[in-house]
Amino acid sequence: MGTSHYVYLGPYLECEYVVVNTVEHHWACPNTRCPLYGQREHDEKISFCGMCGRAFGKASHAVETSSVDCWTLSEEINEALWILPLEYIELDMPVHVWIPNHRRGEPRKFSINPVTDYRVMPIPQVTLVAEQAWLIEAFHDEIELLREHYKRCDVRWGLIVYGH
Ligand SMILES: [Zn+2]
Repeated sequence: MGTSHYVYLGPYLECEYVVVNTVEHHWACPNTRCPLYGQREHDEKISFCGMCGRAFGKASHAVETSSVDCWTLSEEINEALWILPLEYIELDMPVHVWIPNHRRGEPRKFSINPVTDYRVMPIPQVTLVAEQAWLIEAFHDEIELLREHYKRCDVRWGLIVYGH
């Protein structure tokens, strides 16, 4: 499978983007009575439908995308913060999640390897507040830049489990 699993427990940024509705085109059979109607054909060299024989054409479908180009933004901040690979994690809100990447005197290690790092880790309540404050201070400039692009960017503290 090649899937690696990651556990992150600490401060992070939850940044809400605007959902943009656009239309994209793909290559498909235009015959509404054909079982293959509208289904994407990836090989655009194929000219005719294998099922009904009709000439293929361009079909359109609605796509929801983010108003924020997170990869360009990631380069702009020199990857000081790291964006979670959203294709592997289902979120029920239009948000991007950023976690610290560059080392800037973090109070402790936020990532835990679930395969090797067995541990019991009590977390005092003050830690949550202190670590959020650390993130805001250590990544002040980057957070300011992110805030220019998103509807909102909130500092949270919590558990993130993901794989890729
Ligand atoms: Zn067809």
